[in-house]
Amino acid sequence: MKKGRIVALPMLFLFLWLGVLSRLAQPQELEKASDEKILASLHSISSHKLLDYVRELVSEKYGGRLTGTEGYNASARWVAELLQKWGLRPAGDQGSYLQAFPNPYTLVFPGCEAYLHLPVNGAVVKKHYRFDEEFIPGATSGSGEVTAGVVYVGYGITAPELGYDDYAGLDVKGKIVLMEREVPVSPDDNPELFKKWRPYSFHQYKLENAVGHGAAGMLYNYGPICNPNNSYRQGFIYSHVGDVVVSDIFAGTGRTHKETLEKIRKKLKPQSFITGKTFTLKNETEHYPEGIGYNVIGYLEGSDPRLKEEVIILGGHLDHLGRCYELMPGANDNASAVAVLLGVAEALAQCPVKPPRSVVFLFFGAEEQAVAGSEFYLNNPAFPLEKTTALLNLDGVGCGDKINVLAGNNFPELWAFIEKANAQYVHRVVDPSFFANIARPRLDAARFLWKNVPSLSFSVSGAPSFYHNTKDTIETITPEILEDLAQLLFVAVLDMSDEPVLDFRK
Ligand SMILES: [Zn+2]
Repeated sequence: MKKGRIVALPMLFLFLWLGVLSRLAQPQELEKASDEKILASLHSISSHKLLDYVRELVSEKYGGRLTGTEGYNASARWVAELLQKWGLRPAGDQGSYLQAFPNPYTLVFPGCEAYLHLPVNGAVVKKHYRFDEEFIPGATSGSGEVTAGVVYVGYGITAPELGYDDYAGLDVKGKIVLMEREVPVSPDDNPELFKKWRPYSFHQYKLENAVGHGAAGMLYNYGPICNPNNSYRQGFIYSHVGDVVVSDIFAGTGRTHKETLEKIRKKLKPQSFITGKTFTLKNETEHYPEGIGYNVIGYLEGSDPRLKEEVIILGGHLDHLGRCYELMPGANDNASAVAVLLGVAEALAQCPVKPPRSVVFLFFGAEEQAVAGSEFYLNNPAFPLEKTTALLNLDGVGCGDKINVLAGNNFPELWAFIEKANAQYVHRVVDPSFFANIARPRLDAARFLWKNVPSLSFSVSGAPSFYHNTKDTIETITPEILEDLAQLLFVAVLDMSDEPVLDFRK
């Protein structure tokens, strides 16, 4: 959208060629005409259509889009068919839009249970917890039932080099361990110290350390959310729980959960103990170690013979959590982003003014399973990473009115295109932030940053949203923000695309 798209010619030159040009518009008028065409494409992006895309993606037939499942594959084919219809070129395997990668997955069936055994007047009362509000079965849990005593093991960490062991002096064989998420050191408060603890912050590490100590099951105090980003160990049964379950287990032990946690964090000394409580976990699951996931990749080839070698990627993950006991619709996470990307893809594909650089639309699989789709892409890129100018990634862009741009402050020149597009056409609150990215790759953009590809990650806030449970539904989506974000990206990408030189790495 820059002025000077059409080079202003000297007046004399113009005059001499007036005869030839008389049937064409003047340069300014040509530019105006091209801007009008661009504006027509910009305004073809409509909130109604984008909301319909969200509605399609959250429908039962895609089963919550867990990577590896037939439901996910069907959603990938649906995206690929749209890209094909609009004339985007495929950049997946063997001339297709799909890039396959190995991706084990686990199905979790309805009817899973979590209950506490409460002794009342010499009898035992079972206190059942409610699915979704109080517990959600581990999305990579083994199948089976375990009833055992509960041992509180703090953060579940065994780190000899840090002089720290949550399991020291405890026998958890055959027991259910109650465990915290993360590590006792925060990356924000103490980044240097956090780096030493970082390897112990992974869910996979925590689960495997519990298995290694002989535990039979785990209550993971991560809140009642569904999260398939974990290891599968046959016969090891676990569930995610929140405050209700945790305070019931601490009740009558003479300790409170809050004080116990504070002690661990303050002194970096374990506070593990046998709770005296008995708990039952009953999960029915099936594991598929040979699962296959797909990224969906389509692109618009640049119109400039030289600049087309450089690509701008617009990305977002297509997958969600599948059916974990019940359907997890994932409207905000991340059908919202897929809808916005499709809106930009259609508008750009149909815009008569073609971007000089190539624009790639990359829909990641398995973001919810250890960000595996973007990891695979980076090891097998469809376009050379050194020619990848930037990734603009979208994650959770459906609920609210404010646009957050993670890493906007890491790349001021890239951010400037977003700010400019917003000031010209969209007029939302758009807020850049700095991204230290030292914890874990929890976003597709984080993996690209680690590979030195300048990346921004867009999210939206300002209205209630629900994270990784059954309530992330289409009713929570703000349609207008989808349209505004799509228009913002459309303008910014066209603007970036015809810069003579773009280098955000410096
Ligand atoms: Zn998610």
